[in-house]
Amino acid sequence: MNSNLEDTYRHKGLRKQLVDQLKAKGITDEAVLSALNEVPRHVFLDSSFVELAYQDMAFPIGSGQTISQPSTVAFQTQLLQVQKGMKVLEIGTGSGYQACVLAAMGAKVFSIERQRNLFFKTKEILEQLPFRVKTFLGDGFEGLPTYQPFDRVIITAGAPSIPEKLIEQMKPNGIMVIPMDNAEGEGQTMLKITKLEDGSLKKEEFGDFKFVPMLKEIGND
Ligand code: SAH
Repeated sequence: MNSNLEDTYRHKGLRKQLVDQLKAKGITDEAVLSALNEVPRHVFLDSSFVELAYQDMAFPIGSGQTISQPSTVAFQTQLLQVQKGMKVLEIGTGSGYQACVLAAMGAKVFSIERQRNLFFKTKEILEQLPFRVKTFLGDGFEGLPTYQPFDRVIITAGAPSIPEKLIEQMKPNGIMVIPMDNAEGEGQTMLKITKLEDGSLKKEEFGDFKFVPMLKEIGND
């Protein structure tokens, strides 16, 4: 086992401090805070970053991708209103960190990654952790027709538009949290989209963020 997977008292202490910072930044949902306190973040980073793993910062994880900033993970998770047993679809597995936070909240997590190398690297790490996440190599725009419908959909890359197929794969009263490219072409606006009983969409905006782009098709880069 990779020694990086060890979770020491020092890591636990740093994590507790990070959770206190997130509270100070306005995260109030106790279930979200408790999940962030439970999931070790250093195991998702290259060992040279271990000391920095519990800073509220994004980091490179290879293949030109990043692990989202903890406050962004907490913010998106809080908007998603996840309850135990819910089926959650994540687009953009990346490091696997966000997926584990959702699993720690008791969700059944299905996560899609389009970058082949990153997909295999993350799969190997996830297999050594106690969080149950099903991972898929594929194009998130297509969703997972075989496993639908989902209670929740979370997109962790900057989306050019609302992916139609993902809306279709959501249950009535389902919620999607999606960072949507803004008109200026600089960053994204966080949207919470609720699919109402009659199929219409209720959209609410939650501020500006910066994500790597959501791209089509599987990539080998
Ligand atoms: N949730 C991740 C954040 C990763 S960054 C974490 O916790 O670390 C966004 C990820 O989305 C990148 O890994 C990128 O390769 C992936 N991505 C971009 N477009 C995608 C698509 N169409 N389908 C699936 N994954 C995609």
